[in-house]
Amino acid sequence: MNADVTVKPEKRFTGIPVAQGIAHCAAFIQYTQDEEIIARQISAEELHEEVARFETALVSTRIELLEIQRQIASAIGSKDASIFDAHLLVVEDGTLIDEVLRRLERDKNNIEYVFQEVARKYCQTLESIDDPYLRERVGDIEDVTRRVIRNLLGKAPLNPAAHDQPHIIVAHNLTPSDTAQLDRKLVMGFVTEVGSKTSHTAIMARSLEIPAIVGMQGICQEIQLGDDILIDGYNGLLILNPTHETLAEYGRLEQAKEAVTERLHLIRETASTTSDGRHIILSANIDLPEELDDIAENGAEGIGLFRTEFLYLNRVQPPDEEEQFSHYRRAAERSLPHSVIIRTLDIGGDKTNLSLESSQEDNPFLGCRAIRFCLEHVDIFKTQLRAILRAAVIGNVRIMYPMISGIEELRRANAILEECKSELSGAGVPFNPQVEVGIMVETPSAVMVADHLAREVKFFSIGTNDLIQYAVAVDRLNDRIAHLYNPTHPAILRMIKLTVDAGRAHGVWTGVCGEMASDIVLTPLLIGLGVEELSATSTLVPRVKKAVQSLNASKCESLVARVLEMDDASQILIASTAMAREQYADLID
Ligand code: PEP
Ligand code: MG
Repeated sequence: MNADVTVKPEKRFTGIPVAQGIAHCAAFIQYTQDEEIIARQISAEELHEEVARFETALVSTRIELLEIQRQIASAIGSKDASIFDAHLLVVEDGTLIDEVLRRLERDKNNIEYVFQEVARKYCQTLESIDDPYLRERVGDIEDVTRRVIRNLLGKAPLNPAAHDQPHIIVAHNLTPSDTAQLDRKLVMGFVTEVGSKTSHTAIMARSLEIPAIVGMQGICQEIQLGDDILIDGYNGLLILNPTHETLAEYGRLEQAKEAVTERLHLIRETASTTSDGRHIILSANIDLPEELDDIAENGAEGIGLFRTEFLYLNRVQPPDEEEQFSHYRRAAERSLPHSVIIRTLDIGGDKTNLSLESSQEDNPFLGCRAIRFCLEHVDIFKTQLRAILRAAVIGNVRIMYPMISGIEELRRANAILEECKSELSGAGVPFNPQVEVGIMVETPSAVMVADHLAREVKFFSIGTNDLIQYAVAVDRLNDRIAHLYNPTHPAILRMIKLTVDAGRAHGVWTGVCGEMASDIVLTPLLIGLGVEELSATSTLVPRVKKAVQSLNASKCESLVARVLEMDDASQILIASTAMAREQYADLID
């Protein structure tokens, strides 16, 4: 770090903490939101100057793109580098440039504004044409527009390939696809301007143990490429130019947290049984195949949710049966002697793959997502089901359908599963015909007909992330209404209870695999509600285990009897936190 950096004043910014941990290194600004350019009238004399600025920005952008192309070609090969050919064509596009110059002369606005307007029009026209190749060009134009505008504004270039040193990403937004591609060796943490605790990006940060903060509005404007920053994923703080005192304080905090982690590590072989002897199955959620190695290390009893959609992101063709079979087989082997619950493809919502989904929807979380997509794309669904059925020969594999909203969907999915069994049987391929089938309960309609559904499944797993968003009508990604996204809303507790009771009446067990299962402040409520399995983010399993072991199930039941009478979510949270703090304050504070 150079001396100049240390004399800069320390500055603190606050956001929503979504993944614990501390990281300290240089900032890297990535995928910033489009700069909002304000129109400014210019005089006729200024016209020449604006044209000159535009030409310089185009040249700088071209140099920047050629440099990225050179770096990618030497790092991963010229084939991948050629994707930047299309970007280069945009900066050389005569029609686009002529139109900008014509509008500049006609409207006499600042060049950034004129360029942005013309580029937007171009994109809108291309978007409206029913041609996948042209629609793809929209992304190229948007990317190049951003670069040209940043050059016009004199801001640092966006150049991910240039960054081969450890860094913290500061971005407007990161999609789950972006996050799946992060280089874990170099990305020490990330901060975004938008986002929420239950977005899949946040969920992945926790799985990958990357400290992360979201909802830090305007941060991209405050931080420059290479700035010295520290992020505190416990408290949602970004500290620009941390002083020596701050660094020392964080050094002590890290030591204290490490001591807790070491203590938790010691209980990994022990059972997750409450102090009065109720065993709660404690399994892990898996997003990416590489997390499979962590299950035993974290002391989980198998996998309660394998989010298979991550196998389908960032690629044009879905994975074939053999590729999926090898992932599922590995998951089954790693979970032994316990089970793995493989959730069938839950694409849609914030996990998008535009080459699989034919169109973008206005309300993707309410659209053709999860089981709906699979029932529309039976070939894709069958490929996955066959791979699961085959992997079930090796270990203890269960199938779980996401986003079931009624019995018809369950029956259709099961009918397709039976077809897959006949096909495998006809082809003489070994498979396990006895695979247990369960569903995610994550729509209010599924809760209300849980008694019907329970007759045709072996288990329920409550997806509280979605159940809360659908029950309270609050978009799980929208930080503006994050205060309404409330796991202790009385309606949610009642829904969990309805599901558990309906399941019990039919001999069906109920687990929770949404983020509530990883939140140790809520563990007293879930145990008290009669939930039999908790599937938590793999890295948080040791904490949840300690919480379960510290709690008394009968006392949790009394707590639930009390809170079910309450009408106020915050009072319920206070009551549950009080019990949690009484038993394991060291894990909470
Ligand atoms: C849920 O909705 O709670 C869940 C576990 O599924 P996902 O977060 O993948 O939508
Ligand atoms: Mg869900």
